[in-house]
Amino acid sequence: MSRPDWRPPLREELRGIVPYGAPQLDVPVQLNVNENPYPPGEDCVADIARSVATAAASLNRYPDREFTDLREGLAEYLAGESGVLVGAQQVWAANGSNEVMLQILQAFGGPGRVAVSFAPTYSMYPEYARDAMTGWVAGRRREDFGFNLEHARELIAEHRPSVVLVPSPNNPTGTALPHDAIAALCEAAPGVVVIDEAYAEFRRAGTPSAMALLAESPNLVVTRTMSKAFALAGARLGYLAAAPEIVDALRVVRLPYHLSAVTQAVASAALRHATELLGKVEELRAERDRTVVWLRQQGFEVADTDANFVLFGRFRDRHVVWQALLDEGVLIRETGPDGWLRVSVGTADEMAAFEAALLKVRDNGSEELSHEGVTA
Ligand code: PMP
Repeated sequence: MSRPDWRPPLREELRGIVPYGAPQLDVPVQLNVNENPYPPGEDCVADIARSVATAAASLNRYPDREFTDLREGLAEYLAGESGVLVGAQQVWAANGSNEVMLQILQAFGGPGRVAVSFAPTYSMYPEYARDAMTGWVAGRRREDFGFNLEHARELIAEHRPSVVLVPSPNNPTGTALPHDAIAALCEAAPGVVVIDEAYAEFRRAGTPSAMALLAESPNLVVTRTMSKAFALAGARLGYLAAAPEIVDALRVVRLPYHLSAVTQAVASAALRHATELLGKVEELRAERDRTVVWLRQQGFEVADTDANFVLFGRFRDRHVVWQALLDEGVLIRETGPDGWLRVSVGTADEMAAFEAALLKVRDNGSEELSHEGVTA
């Protein structure tokens, strides 16, 4: 029976919405999704392959629902990286930190509740709130993208959010949160405070991790991911550290067996090679700092960054610049406040290609291409 008038009963608030996602284009220089540009080394690849083969032999069975080995491995990694000891019962993981945060909204958000963040920030946050039918309130950062604690306190007092979401370093600006601001947020918030540390391993020496506050803040959740510094974006593994009560709440909303045996095997194997996978982080930090200096020397405005990307501008028409760079084979990201563009930090060769393309675009550019403050 044909029903030509039938339409899927899409929720009202989802109608006309375009799915989130950066363009996936096959161009020579890809600097748009903040990946680590260095693939896993041979030993790591071999260990992953062996581990997957072992897992494959029992794929007729469901995986360990509690992914105990992986949680122990993640706790050990966190202890080494941040110096903070957490037990496996304080660690949780899912398919990317995106899924971890969606589960947080599913458990602690919901109808009649509110989640708060501060713009400009990661564009998926309002989507988690929408998908978990949670109210969404976006405060502001300062003009220089620094965190405005007074404003945050006011917003929290006004809306009494059950979830506060703040990345450190922030995406897309790269700004890290000071230790005092994290402590003050945890004290002011009636619900959970999620410090999204997707880019934490790139922070500069002396910038603290929110991990250090876990012991004294029962409402603090620190999320991390293997997608960025850890060079494992394709595996889809994000995780968090929090009080066991928070982890227990997430166990209620997770789907059964949400982490496949293959994912668990890959992530556990990768953790055995953490040192090697993170081996280029120092080099990437140096490349980031060099890129910031270079862009400033060229007269661009550049946000201070503790991450593996750089937000720069400002352009009269950023889309024209983005497209012109793409025409040169360099894919960056059109995101953040109007007039700004974000470039991920790649290899030295990739950054040289980016710089050459940007100069070419500027030198060939019309009025729209020239950034403010620089006469073309
Ligand atoms: N948080 C921030 C701030 C991000 O920028 C990203 C990815 N761009 C994520 C979380 C999600 O990453 P994943 O799901 O790969 O862990």
